[in-house]
Amino acid sequence: MKALTWQGKQKIGLMNVPDPRILSGGDVIVKVTTAAICGSDLHLYDGYIPTMQKGDILGHETMGEVVEVGPLVKKLKVGDRIVIPFDLGCGKCHHCKEEEYSACDNSNPNPLILDKLYGQSGAAAFGFSHMMGGYAGGQAEYIRVPFADTNSLLIPKGIDDEKVLFLSDIFPTGFMAAENCNIKRGDTVAVWGAGPVGQMCIRSAFLLGAERVIAIDHYNERLKMAAQCGAETINYEEADGLIDELKARTGGRGPDACIDAVGLEAHGHTVTAALDRVEAAVGLVTDRCDALRLAIMACKKGGTVSVPGVYGGYVDHFPFGVAFGKGLNFKMGQTHTQKYMKPLLDLILADKIDPSFVITHRISIDEGPNAYKTFNDQKNECIKVVLKMH
Ligand code: NAD
Ligand code: ZN
Repeated sequence: MKALTWQGKQKIGLMNVPDPRILSGGDVIVKVTTAAICGSDLHLYDGYIPTMQKGDILGHETMGEVVEVGPLVKKLKVGDRIVIPFDLGCGKCHHCKEEEYSACDNSNPNPLILDKLYGQSGAAAFGFSHMMGGYAGGQAEYIRVPFADTNSLLIPKGIDDEKVLFLSDIFPTGFMAAENCNIKRGDTVAVWGAGPVGQMCIRSAFLLGAERVIAIDHYNERLKMAAQCGAETINYEEADGLIDELKARTGGRGPDACIDAVGLEAHGHTVTAALDRVEAAVGLVTDRCDALRLAIMACKKGGTVSVPGVYGGYVDHFPFGVAFGKGLNFKMGQTHTQKYMKPLLDLILADKIDPSFVITHRISIDEGPNAYKTFNDQKNECIKVVLKMH
């Protein structure tokens, strides 16, 4: 089958590889119909996530048709259409029972690296390095889905792939990030990053009752997309001082909640952002966290900072005293996707939201290597790329 593979920093290869097979009784094999490229894939593309190996199959936003079913699978049969969550739960461990699927104890067969680095390993994810399980991803014609009863959402007939594909990752991610803000009526939520995840955060914050949402980025096309649903916008390159601007727009108090939908590759013109670039270049820090710093500075006293943006290692100049002094609440982490997939499908079926608004590019797998470059280099025009597979 054809697959998009990681070949080194900023090198993606279209390869012919063996079709996946059932390896364990709980597996299914899925013929992929639609997949997408995620902002998280860019962290792999840019070489920020260790333990990638040449030839690893990428992709964790995937849906398709079940073509083979392992003997222990109870809920699925050949011909079912499913969306596959990006992270893997076993369905049986303490954390899965608590619906904390991204903290699953069993799905990562290589937990020792993260055990050492983090104290405990979290769940595995598709196509996302060997320290996160080494599972082949879904930017391919077929994919093996382990623990398939837990890691699938059955899609009713007659709904277009594009409407439901993002239940695999960015819609639950944006929704959980907004839910983590504990939004109350009248609240103002500021969202750093108007990429696909930021867009889902913005819409989810409105769905959860925010009165105002302020989107912050430096790409005007992305900000325009945010404005379409009623968000106010700030281009941080054009604003005089972002913190002052946010204060001025919120009666001097600051936003009630701030979401960092940027993650470890933040840009920016502040002194700390410049220091990050220098320190990252010489290996003193792994992650550039300037959006997070600004979110902490801007947030109202006693407010919440919610972090769906991915971080992997160490940051510097982290304003912990500011967070302490203001009594901030922090919520963060990989999404417990399986917990959100069904309730969010119901919102889509009830026409409360159509997540396909975010798609700007539709391509074939053959165009995949170029599409990574376009998504990385031309973020203004290119917001979300989907791969039409079969
Ligand atoms: P993206 O790269 O398309 O978007 C990031 C946006 O942040 C860009 O528009 C960029 O211009 C903007 N940005 C950069 N620096 C900024 C700054 N200082 N202030 C404001 N905006 C800034 O990525 P995406 O697909 O939207 O994903 C965003 C983040 O969410 C990534 O880190 C991704 O890995 C993460 N993510 C997390 C989960 C999870 O489970 N928590 C799931 C999916 C994606
Ligand atoms: Zn588990």
